[in-house]
Amino acid sequence: MKLLGVIGGMSWTSTAEYYRLLNEGVAARLGGLHSARLLLHSVDFDEVAAMQKAGQWDEAGELLAGAARGLEQAGAGALLLATNTMHRVAPAIEAATSIPLLHIADVTARAIRAAGVTRVGLLATRFTMEQDFYSSRLAAHGIETLIPGEAQRAEVHRVIFDELCKNVVLDASRDTYRAIMQELVTRGAQGLVLGCTEIMLLTSQADTNVPVFDTTALHVQAALDWMLD
Ligand code: GLU
Repeated sequence: MKLLGVIGGMSWTSTAEYYRLLNEGVAARLGGLHSARLLLHSVDFDEVAAMQKAGQWDEAGELLAGAARGLEQAGAGALLLATNTMHRVAPAIEAATSIPLLHIADVTARAIRAAGVTRVGLLATRFTMEQDFYSSRLAAHGIETLIPGEAQRAEVHRVIFDELCKNVVLDASRDTYRAIMQELVTRGAQGLVLGCTEIMLLTSQADTNVPVFDTTALHVQAALDWMLD
């Protein structure tokens, strides 16, 4: 099994899911007492969230590039950046290391195409929904992205930062997400991307009739494929 480097803590609630899913995946594939060989660099999310808010993407890129370099020096053979939003600075991480970054949007796009879907609705942080680093990456795979309206984007973003990143999971927010998901489907989305790694704590395939693409689960599957190749 190859050694995986994980850059996490953005937030810790989703990184805990990555850790659980990676270990469950290795156990399922290898059996016995097998568990995931990995290194985790978990950041202080308050620091990163402040940089996001201030638009200090270069500074955030330097911070994560430093973490990536450390993981490479410690022996990691590939990197998993356990957040969609911070793929905004994926180029800085890739420039700082010589090991592959398993890009969450590429992994997601491959699953979307494999399902025969070409137009998706995206639920994510404001940064991921409104900036073009994510949708342009999906577009490179031939996938069109629909995003919720302004008021709905604000609410999706608020639930992520005020609730899910603090390990608060509320039925009322699930109902709100369901309604926003339905609206995207009505507007023509053939599938829905849970494009923030905490959203799987709140919603799932059970909340809609169209295929759901859970970026956390898909990212983990890609990591397992690399680790056990
Ligand atoms: N984990 C989230 C994501 O996948 C949001 C936290 C962050 O801004 O990094 O985008």
